[in-house]
Amino acid sequence: MNDIKNCGISLSEQEKYAEKVRSLIKEKQEKSGRKLLCYITTFGCQQNEADSERLMGQAVSLGYEKTDDPESADLIIYNTCAVREHAELRALSRTGALKHLKEKNKDLIIGLWGCMVTQNHRMNDVKMSYPYVDFVAGTNMLPRLAEILCDVMVNDRRRYYVTEDVTSEITEGVPVLRENDIKAYVSIMYGCNNFCTYCVVPYVRGRERSRKKEFIIEEVKELVNSGYREITLLGQNVNSYGDKEYGFVDLLKDLCAINGDFTLRFMTSHPKDASDELIDLIAENKKLAKQFHLPMQSGSTEILRRMNRKYTAEKYIALAEKIKEKIPGVSLTTDIIVGFPGETEEDFLETYKAVEKLRFDSIFSFIYSPRKGTPAAQMEDPATKEEKTDRMSRLIALQTEISAEINKCFVGKTVSALCDTRKRLENGLYAAKTTGNKTVFFDFNGDINSVYGKNIDIKITRSTAAQLYGEYEK
Ligand code: SAH
Ligand code: SF4
Repeated sequence: MNDIKNCGISLSEQEKYAEKVRSLIKEKQEKSGRKLLCYITTFGCQQNEADSERLMGQAVSLGYEKTDDPESADLIIYNTCAVREHAELRALSRTGALKHLKEKNKDLIIGLWGCMVTQNHRMNDVKMSYPYVDFVAGTNMLPRLAEILCDVMVNDRRRYYVTEDVTSEITEGVPVLRENDIKAYVSIMYGCNNFCTYCVVPYVRGRERSRKKEFIIEEVKELVNSGYREITLLGQNVNSYGDKEYGFVDLLKDLCAINGDFTLRFMTSHPKDASDELIDLIAENKKLAKQFHLPMQSGSTEILRRMNRKYTAEKYIALAEKIKEKIPGVSLTTDIIVGFPGETEEDFLETYKAVEKLRFDSIFSFIYSPRKGTPAAQMEDPATKEEKTDRMSRLIALQTEISAEINKCFVGKTVSALCDTRKRLENGLYAAKTTGNKTVFFDFNGDINSVYGKNIDIKITRSTAAQLYGEYEK
């Protein structure tokens, strides 16, 4: 892992900045008699969560200690999301709430990171309306926290890091502090080339680029050797990992061949690229979780065409049915956008019917949110907000019924699930995850550490649309 020749940026260059920052942090610590603390909050997807773990890893390597309390922090970073307006507004309003902390602690450093501020208009919003934010950095600045903090702390410069270059190469070896000690995210690729017309991701995360297989295999081996039991491979479209010679299925085969007791999950699969080979591999390999997240987005071929999804509703339905048939017991989940520009009641009903037919385990449904700079934002959008909300409510009601029915089938059965909680949750119970990624709540008398991180048998006694409840068996 020390071979960083293929890096996008030179980590030894970063080390020069890191040394300066470290000495300043040390000085401040000696003066105040306490450790300096770093607080990071993440908006959005798993990719952002994985990035935040690398930001925290860098912060800790510079001398900060991690805190979950923003009030006592000396460095606060908000890792932002741009996929829907709601996520942006939430990040901005939370940024507004940081002003009083800056007034209390003049030395506090506040940074906004990631997808939202990679967009120039948002970067300008921050410049104009949040003058107490010390730095703003786009997604491709990820390995350069030391350089940024050096500017802010040592050179006393408030800077905006313009990130026009979102095509940068991948930097390996960036320090990481993982949130969890049995479940880990491993990014296998960055960016996206698909340009779905509603989506901002290709603009804020740049073109698709894959990590070299050697780095990924090494990282997974290290994780497994240090006790990780579940690894989720991340990419906007994992099916297009690599090249013709060595693709996603080849990578999965190599990862499954690693010795150890662990499960692999991945997300996200684009329906246009999900191959038979991939489905067969999931069906036959015990290390691959029996779960498939396959975003449908819409059940109307016309809407899919305008979304630039490159498949028809019929093709999607056939693929989903094949997955269900070939992988018995698979948990199939999807994403759906309601109210895409020009979506008629008939288009929506096609989505509704597809959901009725395919009976997903769960769906993530979103009302379309216009994103500046994307083609869909220019399309005519005659449906009213009320119509869209009504469609969304109908879809949620349908799916709640389906999920409840599917989960009810588990009652009376014994499932194997990975115990991933060490403390009792708010409901007084512990939780575990099935191979289909369903949460099972259970009670446990005794030392939970004896089963934490292990696959345990739980007899399901009741269910809801979202969860299963059961009794620990062994
Ligand atoms: N790369 C993944 C996920 C991308 S973002 C994929 O292709 O599936 C996650 C989900 O957010 C998408 O699947 C889509 O359903 C939703 N989404 C993306 N842009 C959106 C927008 N402008 N409005 C509403 N939902 C959106
Ligand atoms: Fe966005 Fe489409 Fe790329 Fe997914 S595949 S990130 S929805 S552009």
